Amino acid sequence: MQIFFNGRIILEETLLDDSAVFVADGTIQRIGPFNQGEVPVDAELIDLTGQFLGPGYVDLHVHGGKGADYMDGTPSAVIQANRAHCRHGTTTIFPTTTTGSRAQLERMLRACAEVRAEGRIEDGSRIGGVHYYGPYFASDKVGCHSVEGRRDPDPDEYRAAFDLGMIRIATCAAELPGAEAFYREASDRGYLVTCGHSNASYQEMQRAFNAGMRHVDHFWCAMSSVSTIRQRLGAPFQASMEQFVLMNPEMSSEVIADGEHLAPDLLEFAYRMIGPDRLCLVTDANRAVDMPAGAYCFGPTEDGAWFESDGRVGRVENGSLASSVAGMDQLVRVMHRDTSSSIPEAVRMASLTPASRVGLANELGSIASGKRADLLVLDAGLAVDRVFIGGVEYQTPGGA
Ligand SMILES: [Zn+2]
Ligand SMILES: [Zn+2]
Repeated sequence: MQIFFNGRIILEETLLDDSAVFVADGTIQRIGPFNQGEVPVDAELIDLTGQFLGPGYVDLHVHGGKGADYMDGTPSAVIQANRAHCRHGTTTIFPTTTTGSRAQLERMLRACAEVRAEGRIEDGSRIGGVHYYGPYFASDKVGCHSVEGRRDPDPDEYRAAFDLGMIRIATCAAELPGAEAFYREASDRGYLVTCGHSNASYQEMQRAFNAGMRHVDHFWCAMSSVSTIRQRLGAPFQASMEQFVLMNPEMSSEVIADGEHLAPDLLEFAYRMIGPDRLCLVTDANRAVDMPAGAYCFGPTEDGAWFESDGRVGRVENGSLASSVAGMDQLVRVMHRDTSSSIPEAVRMASLTPASRVGLANELGSIASGKRADLLVLDAGLAVDRVFIGGVEYQTPGGA
C-alpha cells in the first residue's frame, strides 16, 4: 500500500485538501481521510509536502522530443521521446505519424509496438496507441509536413497499417477522395476518428461525421475557416470546420496551448465555446523539445522537412509555425494562466478529456478509485516534481 498524503489533490472537478490517496498494486484504491496514527505496517508513505497531486497527462498528438522523432522509426528514438515527455508529466502517449512513405509509416508502427510490448517503466510514457496522422492531408494544408509524403487515402495501405494493431486515433482530411471509406473503417475499429490538415466545407464535415469522424486536430491550425472556404468555393460564404465543431456537441477538438501558437483570447474562446469536456490540450511537440535552439528535421531524419527552433517554438522558412517544443506541463500552466479555467479544468483538458475521447477513461485520466495510479506531484506553479506510472516512480535513467 502507498499513501500519498499532505497534499492538494486535483480531482476531476475540485481540489481536495486534508485527504490522502491510497494505492495498491498500481491501482488507486480510495481517496479519503488519513490518520498518521493508523498507518498499516507495510505502507509506504509519500509526503506531498503541501504540493499538488494530479493525474498523469494524456497526449493525443505528439511527434517527438529530446532529439528524436517517432518517424525515425527505431525503438531507441521512441524511448528517447517517451522519456522526455514523461519528465513533463505525460504518462500515456500517442506517438503521431507525419507524412511519409508507406515503408516509413510501417517502420514507425513496428518500433512503437516493440517498445509497448517491452513495457518497461524506465522507457518513459506508456504508449496508449499510435495516432495515424499523416499522410492523408489536403495538398493546400500540409503545414510543416513534407509535401512529397502526402497522398489521398489508399485502402490497401491503411488497412495494412490498422492490422498492425497499434493505432487508436486516425486522421484524414475530409475533402479527399476516399475519406469517407477511411472514416468508416477507422470508426468500425473503435478509433477516435479525426479530420485535420483540411480545407473542408461544412457539408464535407457533415458527410465525414456521418461516416464516424468526431474530432478535429489542432483547432485553428491547418484547418478551414469561412475565408478559406470562400476562396475555394466562392459565394455565398459557407461554414467551415470551425463552425462544425462549435455547433456539434458530439465533436471534440484540441489546442496547442504552448503560449506560442494561440493568443490568450483564442485560448479563452476555445475554453468557453468548446469547453473543458470536449477540448483537449495537445503538445504537437517535435524533436526539439528539451533541445537547444537550432535547425531540426520534422518527420523522418532521412527526408523530413527542416525547421528552426528558437527554444520557444518551431518555424519553417517562410516564418509559419512548425509545431511546438513544449511538454504537457507547460500547456497546463499556459491554459490556466491565459484563460479563466480553474486548475482542475486545465488539468482535465490534459488528462480525463483526452482519455475519454480515446475510450480509456475507465482505466486512467483522473484520480478516482479503480483507476491506474498514474500520478504527478506538481509544485505551486504546476511544474512537475515527481511522476508515478502505475504507482511506480519514474526516474530518468542516469539521472538528469
Ligand atoms: Zn498538424
Ligand atoms: Zn502534428
